[in-house]
Amino acid sequence: MIAEHAPAVTERLTPADLDRAAALLRAGALVAFPTETVYGLGADATDDAAVAAIFEAKARPRFNPLIIHVIDEAAARRLVRFDERAAQLAQRFWPGPLSLVLPRAADCPVSLLASAGLDSLALRIPAHPLPRALIRAVGRPIAAPSANRSGRVSPTTAEHVLDELDGRIAAVLDGGPCRVGIESTVLDLTGPRPRLLRPGGVGAEALEEAIGPLERGDATDAAAPRSPGMMESHYAPSLPLRLGATKAEPTEALLAFGPRAPRGAKEVRWLSRRGDLVEAAAHLFAALRALDRLEFSAIAVMPIPEHGLGLAINDRLRRAAAPRP
Ligand code: AMP
Ligand code: MG
Repeated sequence: MIAEHAPAVTERLTPADLDRAAALLRAGALVAFPTETVYGLGADATDDAAVAAIFEAKARPRFNPLIIHVIDEAAARRLVRFDERAAQLAQRFWPGPLSLVLPRAADCPVSLLASAGLDSLALRIPAHPLPRALIRAVGRPIAAPSANRSGRVSPTTAEHVLDELDGRIAAVLDGGPCRVGIESTVLDLTGPRPRLLRPGGVGAEALEEAIGPLERGDATDAAAPRSPGMMESHYAPSLPLRLGATKAEPTEALLAFGPRAPRGAKEVRWLSRRGDLVEAAAHLFAALRALDRLEFSAIAVMPIPEHGLGLAINDRLRRAAAPRP
């Protein structure tokens, strides 16, 4: 799959080539760029296929939600629902190395894959002038996880990015070494108590000074025991999922993959008719949501190959299919 989607060579761009970088992003290509924290691997956050390509380039075995980079608070407010805490923190720490996780707005145009199917979105406003100019030129929110392969350390120079991703992304914008060098602090504001999901460039004490005590760690650490399917706060359909389906019942909805689908399902949605895993990843969360309706007895899911992005798709499907109370 990699060879089919990735460009043969990665362009090395300088700040003078900003328009080129913006044009590539607008066309759905992947462009790495510096921020004050680390180099990010950017894609148009509103383009499902471009976001899917991020996961493919990073060779991630799982979908995890990505941080969305915007130009200012007004742009942020178009994507998520702000509350008083968010307003306080934005005023004090944006632009800067703080990512806020907030509920997606009803008409949020950001790809569901960028929030890994969650109802929330992590947002950040970078302070570095280069990504700021780039976001402005693109005119859309930009999804950007760290520009390294899965499981490797975050890159703080363009050289590091090329070591990891040369030939897998369209371009890297070289702005020299990153100033902060560690990732942004990630703060979850979707619950009644703010929760520190990842320590980073803005200290927890500074946040507590602004909005009071924080809870720490992942929401999955919470005391209430939950079944495996619920272990992550990820979206799971309310209908049962039947994986590896080669036939479909007349009461079922069918999530199809590849040119030939079994007949007989009440409704069919294709992840990818041509059997393309990047396209399938791009459609996954929207398709699950579209089929998750009470008029069906279950969602039957055709087998998805266990390679490339198929690993992350199957990981997600297996967790959605796990028994729940
Ligand atoms: P990276 O992509 O390497 O910059 O890391 C992004 C971090 O933000 C990861 O730890 C994600 O799990 C976290 N994150 C991003 N979006 C969300 C979200 N909607 N809910 C919870 N955590 C998030
Ligand atoms: Mg990372």
